Amino acid sequence: MCACANRSFCPPTDRQRAKALGDICQLNDDISRAITIGIDECFLPFPIPNVGDWVTVHTEQGQTVQEFERTVRTVPHSSYRTIYVQPIGSFDHPRAPSLETICEFSRPFFPGCQIEILPRIDFTDFSKHGQNGMRINSYTKQPQYLTSFIIGHLKKMKRRERKHDRQELFCIGVTMADIYPGSNWNFVYGLASIDDGIGIYSFSRLDPLFPNAEMAGPCTDEVRILILKRSISVFVHEVIHLFGVEHCIYYLCMMNGTETEEEMDGQPLYLCPICLRKMYSAIGKEKKHFNVIQMYTKILELCKSLHFKDESAWYENRLNLLNTTANN
Ligand SMILES: [Zn+2]
Ligand SMILES: [Zn+2]
Repeated sequence: MCACANRSFCPPTDRQRAKALGDICQLNDDISRAITIGIDECFLPFPIPNVGDWVTVHTEQGQTVQEFERTVRTVPHSSYRTIYVQPIGSFDHPRAPSLETICEFSRPFFPGCQIEILPRIDFTDFSKHGQNGMRINSYTKQPQYLTSFIIGHLKKMKRRERKHDRQELFCIGVTMADIYPGSNWNFVYGLASIDDGIGIYSFSRLDPLFPNAEMAGPCTDEVRILILKRSISVFVHEVIHLFGVEHCIYYLCMMNGTETEEEMDGQPLYLCPICLRKMYSAIGKEKKHFNVIQMYTKILELCKSLHFKDESAWYENRLNLLNTTANN
């Protein structure tokens, strides 16, 4: 009997995980080793959920590699491989995470793609075209912006840029303002329009002092690292969604759904073997750029420079294991 029989979600068995990974005989040595060697030592199974965790609130069936490969999705190719990051509103506050750092950390996850930060725009730019979907949230008493207005505006920009031969794969709006998806919602962290390749994500609620962060001074190193880690985690997770990868239920993984900040903080900054294999497929013809050892080496370097201790330890251990077994 499953240990969580009294809940609606049951973590998958080894057999279901093997089925989700699928047939690996066509893969090259680098990716094949990365998804088969030392798995039990380095990857934790999906945890038994607590009441209120994502999988107890949302139905998640899991997405196998085969199902992922059958979905209609955007695939980068030589002329469309730029992921644009569009800052909306100010990021000048001392507690705001560094967009440059978030993008730098994200680059190794998307080999063959480019990530470029566009010049900032403001919410007032939307109102030139009519309303901007602003309301005052009744709990926080602070302004919030409607996601559909933002996505609509980014869509118009996308059409315009295409005329100038911009090679846009996706466009991700990022903001320090709070956002909401509809009048009966309190807030949302982010929302993607996968068909349009456009997403909008707010980092405002990732600050432990929200909704009072605006008034607070600079944060301690510990809080700065926490905010940065959460922002990177949300950003990379959401861009991976735009590639067509759904939530992971197979291992503890960067692609697990998260309902609370506790769940978000318990999530690792790495992909499980199944999601890593999906990203290998997602990159399409640019696969020649996909090298797991190089990817991990770069991420380890970044984790060390940003003082992400647990993450540095994981990448170091994983790399040692892959390199040692390669030399035998
Ligand atoms: Zn998600
Ligand atoms: Zn996963």
